Amino acid sequence: KKEQMQQTERIRLIGEMAASVAHEIRNPLTVVKGYTHLLKEASNITEKQKDMLLLMSSELVRAEKIINDYLSLARTNEGTKEQINLGKLIKKVEELMSPYALLNNVKIYNQVQTECIIEAGQDEILQVFINIIKNAIEAIEGKGEVIVSEKTTENYVKINIADNGKGMTEEELNRLGTPFYSTKTQGTGIGTMVCFNIVHHLNGKIEMKSKMNKGTTCSVYLPILSK
Ligand code: ADP
Ligand code: MG
Repeated sequence: KKEQMQQTERIRLIGEMAASVAHEIRNPLTVVKGYTHLLKEASNITEKQKDMLLLMSSELVRAEKIINDYLSLARTNEGTKEQINLGKLIKKVEELMSPYALLNNVKIYNQVQTECIIEAGQDEILQVFINIIKNAIEAIEGKGEVIVSEKTTENYVKINIADNGKGMTEEELNRLGTPFYSTKTQGTGIGTMVCFNIVHHLNGKIEMKSKMNKGTTCSVYLPILSK
């Protein structure tokens, strides 16, 4: 319990830090990006210089991506809540993630048909399911599938996101959600932490079950406003 409190406090502090720093970094980054682009278009540069500028551009995009992840983390404490049809939202996530799934030889099966309403920030809750499904897709080597299903009880709606990817060890499962924990070369290790944080703020919870080389199931519980 005490550990959990420390964890929540740590996440809150990171969020606060992110809010102030991210905005400040974004502006100079935009300026550098603009000039890099201009230089790239210049006629009197060599091929080698052009390659360097291309690399600079892609690294700037990467830096921006990290900052965007931070900003979403910083946003979780504010924002207005709306009434959201969860089934419709999951459908939207499916559409948003389908191209990425296709690119990775993954098929998304969306079995969610719930009409229940939850109260949350639209962007926040979108972010939660995007992050989880993104991780599910990225866990699959070769061909695979992600199945999104639901189970509704009296007060909670549970959305299951199951993948048949590489799975996690007990140790990896325990580290999930801690800041900057990532096993990917291009990972930020922020996604899961953001999800946990948002769902926690909505008085819900996330459960993870995983088996090595079998796959992972992530369950998101959210309180129902009305059915
Ligand atoms: P990132 O995706 O940038 O690495 P995340 O916080 O989203 O950061 O995830 C942290 C780590 O948790 C991942 O690098 C991966 O090792 C592990 N992980 C998350 N979801 C899954 C999953 N569905 N299957 C296997 N491993 C996962
Ligand atoms: Mg991720």
